[in-house]
Amino acid sequence: MTSTRADTTLSENGAPVRYRPARPHWVDDARLASWRRWVACAESGGAAPLTATAPYDDRPTAPVPSSTPGDVAAAVTAGRAAQRHWAALTPKARAEVVLRFHDLLVARQDEVMDLVQWEMGKARFHAWQEVLQVGTVARHYARRAASYLADKRVRGAIPVLTQVREVRVPHGVVGIVSPWNYPLYLGVGDTLPALLAGNAVVSKADPQTPLTLLWIRALMAEAGLPEHVWSVVTGPGAEIGTALVDTVDYVCFTGSTATGRVVAEHAARRLVGASLELGGKNPLVVRADADLDKAVRGTVDAGFANTGQMCIHIERVLVHADVHDAFRDRLVAAVGALRVGQGYDYAHDVGSLASAAQLAKVSAHVDDAVAKGATVLCGGRARPDLGPYVYEPTVLTGVTGGMDLCRGETFGPVLALYRVADDEEAVARANEGTYGLSASVFSADVPGALRLARRIRAGSVNINDGALLAAGTVEAPMGGMGDSGLGRRSGAEGIRKFTEPQTLAVSRLGPVGPPPGMSAEKFVALGNRQLTLLRRLGVR
Ligand code: NAD
Repeated sequence: MTSTRADTTLSENGAPVRYRPARPHWVDDARLASWRRWVACAESGGAAPLTATAPYDDRPTAPVPSSTPGDVAAAVTAGRAAQRHWAALTPKARAEVVLRFHDLLVARQDEVMDLVQWEMGKARFHAWQEVLQVGTVARHYARRAASYLADKRVRGAIPVLTQVREVRVPHGVVGIVSPWNYPLYLGVGDTLPALLAGNAVVSKADPQTPLTLLWIRALMAEAGLPEHVWSVVTGPGAEIGTALVDTVDYVCFTGSTATGRVVAEHAARRLVGASLELGGKNPLVVRADADLDKAVRGTVDAGFANTGQMCIHIERVLVHADVHDAFRDRLVAAVGALRVGQGYDYAHDVGSLASAAQLAKVSAHVDDAVAKGATVLCGGRARPDLGPYVYEPTVLTGVTGGMDLCRGETFGPVLALYRVADDEEAVARANEGTYGLSASVFSADVPGALRLARRIRAGSVNINDGALLAAGTVEAPMGGMGDSGLGRRSGAEGIRKFTEPQTLAVSRLGPVGPPPGMSAEKFVALGNRQLTLLRRLGVR
C-alpha cells in the first residue's frame, strides 16, 4: 500500500518534479468516499468545503464535508441513544471490538502511515510510533478496563450492618477534541478508553488531518463498533469545537494552553468535567556525570522527533558547565548528521513541518532570537529545496529572557542550549515559566537524578531517556502541571476519568439514626463511645 519513492519522484511524463506529489497512489475516489461517509453532516447537505494543504507538496489534500452546529447536536443526541445499548454490553464484548481494531490496525498500518504523512508531513518512523502507541493503548485497556473499573467495596458507616460499594458510571457522551500533530494517536488514543468505559464519543476532527480520523473511524466499523457509538464532526474549532464542548457530558481536550482555557471555561459553566492536555516548554538536564553519548542521543530524539511538533519534546537543554562544551560539540555533530526530508519511506530522520503556519512560527522564533543576540550553532533556516515547509534541525545558544523562544512554546525542531553551574541552577532553570509537562535528566547517578527529578515541576520526568519512556508507559499517568493541563491520560486515571464514581450504600438496619424508642442523648453517647473505641483500636 505504501507510496514508493518511484511513485512520487517523477511526474506523469517522467520529468523530475520540484516536490514529490503528496497524495498516496492508492487513495482513490472510492476510498475517499468510503471515509467521508463517516462525517456527521446531514444538516450541511453533504457539502465539501473543508480542504487542508498537504505539507509535502503544498497542494490541497482531499475535501471533506463540513458539519454544522446542528450536526453536532444531532450526533450527540444519536450518541446518547446508542450509548445505552453500548453500556449494557459486557466489558468483554466491548473489549473484543477494540482487540479486533488492534489487529486490523497492525495489519493495515501502511495505509494509515501514508495518510498521517500526507496530512501532516512527519517522517515515516514517527508515523509508525503512532501505530505502536495506539496498538499498546488498545491492548492495554481492552485487557485492563474491567479491573480498572471494577466495583470497590468500602467499609460502611456502621461496620457489619451496612454494605457500601463504589461503582463507576459512564458519563454518557464524551466530546474529544485533539490537534493535528498526532492524528492517529490523539485521534483514537483517548477514544478507546472512553468507549471501553461504556461511553459514546463524538470527536471533532482537526481541520489539518480529518482523513486520518475518518480512516480510523471506518476501521472501527470494520471491527464491529456500532454506528452512532462514535461519530466524527468536522469544522473550525471556534465554531464546531465550541458546539461540541457546549453539548457533551464530558470533554477530553488536547491542544494549546490558550484554547484549553476557553474549553475549560465553557465546561465549567455547564459543570461538566474536562481533562486538558496542553502545551509545554520541556527541559532536559545533563549532569556532570552523564554518559554524553547517551545524553546526546536522548536530546536528539526528544528534540527532533515528529519534527519537534510533540507536546513532550525537549526545547531547553541545561548542561553542567564541566561537560557543556564537550556535549555541545557532540550534539552539533549529531544534529548535522540527521537526514532531513520528506517521503513515504524510512529514508529520513526528520520530516517536514505540518503547515505554513508552523513554518512561520518556527522561523519567527529563531529569527527573533538571532536578532536579539542568540547564536545559531547549526540549522536556523528553512529548506524549500527539500520541501515547502521543511526547516533544518536547529541548535541555538545565547538565548535570553527577552526572546520569544525563551519561554514560549516553539513547537518545532529547535533546541536552546544553556550552561548551568550545578543542580541548584538546573532545577531553578527547569522550573522557569508556567508550563510543567515533561522533563528529562541524564546522569550516571540514578538515585541523585531521581532526587533532582522530584524537584522539577513536571507531570513526567524521564531519567536517561529523552522524552518517550514515561509517555510510552501505558500504565503510568501522563499529563501536565501548571499551564500544561488538568487530568491525566494512561493508567487507571486514563480510563476512570471517563466515568463518575457512584456510591451504593445498603443498610441492613433500616434507616441510619436513633432506632425507635432511643433518645437522641443516648444515641449521641453511643456514637461518642464508638468514636473513642475506633480511635483506640487504630481503625482507619
Ligand atoms: P489548538 O489549541 O489551536 O487546537 C487544538 C484543537 O482544538 C484543534 O482541533 C482545533 O480545531 C480545536 N479548537 C480550536 N478552538 C477551539 C475551541 N474554542 N473550542 C474547542 N475546540 C477548539 O492547538 P494546536 O496549536 O493546533 O496544537 C498544538 C498544541 O497542542 C501545542 O500547544 C501542543 O503542546 C499541544 N499538545 C498537547 C498534548 C498533550 O498531551 N499535552 C499533545 C499534543 C499536542
